[in-house]
Amino acid sequence: MTDRANDLTAWDRDHFFHPSTPAGQHARGDTPRRQIVGGDGVHIIDSTGKRSLDAFGGLYCVNVGYGRTEIADAMAAQAHALAYYHAYAGHSTEASITLSRMIIERAPANMSRVYFGLSGSDANETNIKLVWYYNNILGRPEKKKIISRWRGYHGSGVMTGSLTGLQVFHDHFDLPRAPILHTDAPYYFRRDDLDLTEAQFTARCAQRLEDMILTEGPDTIAAFWAEPVLGTGGIVPPPAGYWPAIQAVLVKYDILLVADEVVTGFGRLGTMFGSDHYGMTPDLITIAKGLTSAYAPLSGSIVSDKIWQVIVDGADRMGPMGHGWTYSAHPVCAAAGVANLKLIDDLGLVENARTTGAYLRQGLQDALGTHPNVGDVRGEGMLAAVELVADRDSRRFYDPAQKIGPRIATAMLERGVIARAMPQGDILGFAPPLCLTPAEADTIISVTRDAITATL
Ligand code: PLP
Repeated sequence: MTDRANDLTAWDRDHFFHPSTPAGQHARGDTPRRQIVGGDGVHIIDSTGKRSLDAFGGLYCVNVGYGRTEIADAMAAQAHALAYYHAYAGHSTEASITLSRMIIERAPANMSRVYFGLSGSDANETNIKLVWYYNNILGRPEKKKIISRWRGYHGSGVMTGSLTGLQVFHDHFDLPRAPILHTDAPYYFRRDDLDLTEAQFTARCAQRLEDMILTEGPDTIAAFWAEPVLGTGGIVPPPAGYWPAIQAVLVKYDILLVADEVVTGFGRLGTMFGSDHYGMTPDLITIAKGLTSAYAPLSGSIVSDKIWQVIVDGADRMGPMGHGWTYSAHPVCAAAGVANLKLIDDLGLVENARTTGAYLRQGLQDALGTHPNVGDVRGEGMLAAVELVADRDSRRFYDPAQKIGPRIATAMLERGVIARAMPQGDILGFAPPLCLTPAEADTIISVTRDAITATL
């Protein structure tokens, strides 16, 4: 190693507090260290020159792929012209106005306005406040509880961590429990009652939601929060009929639907939004990741006309909403968003997510569907998962301590493909850039099969 490389390794160990990384192991130099220096298309390149096919698109966010000069150039031009001005008191830039217009043009028909943030977590925090604000304006201060789902992931903030239904994000933090409740995940493969048909399981999810609403009191429940397809909780598309059944319950009790489309927004499911894919009519939508394909941090809360009308009335009567971020609608990030959404259109990436995504999932199914340690191959659009089981026939699951997913992901990385071991430990996740080609999909499929065969 060069002196510079040695210095960087030491500084990384001694000064960099990494997210989702075992702190002690890292400080002792025991975690894998990899400096990423470049990327093009679906590949990243590390400081040793090794190329890897990134089959998780960073953290399912690099939708257009790496190395897009159109986005880099748009950001540079904006930074040269005006790197920053705030959006308070009606200030805007051409980029932020254009981007808000482009988002509303692509969003479900009932959407009206975008409030910009920087991360999926802060956009969900904004949406929580909007839900509470909405009910306060309407004179319903009791209607504040929010129901999300076990296995849902909505961020790592204080309230968004509470919304998240994965235990590891709650452990050791004493996050506020109230006013958040969790209901069933629509996870048919892991159903507790094997006799249930998919339709019965779906009906039970809706019934249990309704039971919870009635137990708590409909007048206390403000919103239901959900990803159209469960992401970090295991990449689990809902069973057929799930969304219509859930929405019927919400409408019955005047409960808002907040669609967290941080992963599913901007083409991931083969439609521009997951809400369109499943015929959902959300009142608020959370977006981030694919909005800029992660070339710059940017998120948004998309507000429906129904909510917007109430906010306008509230602002007229009560004064402006006391909520704002310094970097809301940051011009350089907005310029990245405009260039990114243009590229998604110009390259036909939503269509490619549908066709090449289906090709990838079918290939994984053909290669692994009968493997004794593969329980389920599933997904939607350019999103796929392979769930590993200790024994397929007896439905025996792995103990998370065996770290089966991480071991296979490591074996895949050695073979040049990055998949994500999802947090529960026995699910491999795939969310490649939407520009994936069938030949690149073939590489993912063969490397996954080889790594599973070599590891188990
Ligand atoms: N919501 C969903 C569905 C996510 O998958 C994520 C991140 O993975 C978030 C919210 C949080 O986004 P961020 O990490 O940008 O705060």
